[in-house]
Amino acid sequence: MQSDTKSSLMAIGTTDRSTFRTCRLLWDYSSQNRLNYSNIGAIKNYEFGTAMHEAMEILYDPETWDKGMTIAKINRAKAAFVSYLTTFRINLISVGIDGDIFREIDDYIKIGPSIIDNYVEWASEADEHIRPVKTEIDFEVPIPVTEKQSKILRPGFSTEYNNVMDCHVLMYKGEVVLYKGIIDLLVYDDRFDSYIIIDHKTTSNFAYSSEAKLERDTQASAYYWALRMLDINVMGTEFNYILKDAPSPPNVLKSGKLSKAKDQKTTYNLYMQAIEDNDLDVADYIGFLEDFEEPEYFKRIESYRDAQQLKLIGEYILLEAMDMLGDPFIYPNINAFHQCKSCEFFVPCTKKINGEDDIAYIESTTMYIQNYD
Ligand code: SF4
Repeated sequence: MQSDTKSSLMAIGTTDRSTFRTCRLLWDYSSQNRLNYSNIGAIKNYEFGTAMHEAMEILYDPETWDKGMTIAKINRAKAAFVSYLTTFRINLISVGIDGDIFREIDDYIKIGPSIIDNYVEWASEADEHIRPVKTEIDFEVPIPVTEKQSKILRPGFSTEYNNVMDCHVLMYKGEVVLYKGIIDLLVYDDRFDSYIIIDHKTTSNFAYSSEAKLERDTQASAYYWALRMLDINVMGTEFNYILKDAPSPPNVLKSGKLSKAKDQKTTYNLYMQAIEDNDLDVADYIGFLEDFEEPEYFKRIESYRDAQQLKLIGEYILLEAMDMLGDPFIYPNINAFHQCKSCEFFVPCTKKINGEDDIAYIESTTMYIQNYD
């Protein structure tokens, strides 16, 4: 999906924007437009997410949607998940990586198919009102510049008229600047008679998700903006959170009875199955099952944008593009240490603070890979 424009080497994306906003030094280490290093530990988490996206692409294939969630389709989704991580594992071995990372990847490979089974069961209700339109939408959109905005362009930036978008768009050193990204899934939502973006997010903790946070999520805003620029009348985004965890059957006690502990990672259906498998009397568990609350493994959070927000998103993208591409000063612009605690470049950054050569360190360890894609 691309608007008519000259080919361009100048492209920014959502990850770029979010790291640039978090910390310029982090952005300098990691952006594809800068040093382009990746941390192996962060890649591992990223690749779990990518493997799950491969599975979701099969489950939400518009071509097969009307046939429902057949066993064959679910098995193909599981196979895609396992195959992706197995290939990733092989690639790590081939570049000389070793250590604990393999144990974690193997755990992912083991748990992924159970997550997918559990997801399909949960989504049968959550998906009742949607119809997939397209998966994995690759987009590249030029950034519009109004006449008023053209007066504040930084040195090196200019505009040219784009006949498809019918407006002037941003250029840097003679190249059109593109905003690019991949939208996981576009669906038609019967409740609103409108298109909705579905963004799959794998997470180890739902505490990272909240409506207020997603209201300002740059990725959701940018995808909404991009589709609107491409004349697709989308209403907003639904974040499809998938916990990196799966339920298991309830514990069987030494007595042969099932545990009634409330914090078990199980489900109502698995509990009923265990009663049957262990030849137990369901009457002994009715009270427990009535009060049992299944832990949450999945969550959908809706986040919508309106016309005023759309205008602001476009302005912010323009300003950030100029900030990022216009040879910015690099410094750690975090405002609280908690932002550093989970930073994948914490060690090289600390070395830099201590007057050591951070880049020499990055180059000397197998913890970092350059130009990983
Ligand atoms: S550790 Fe903190 S200051 Fe250093 S690169 Fe990461 S976020 Fe920036």
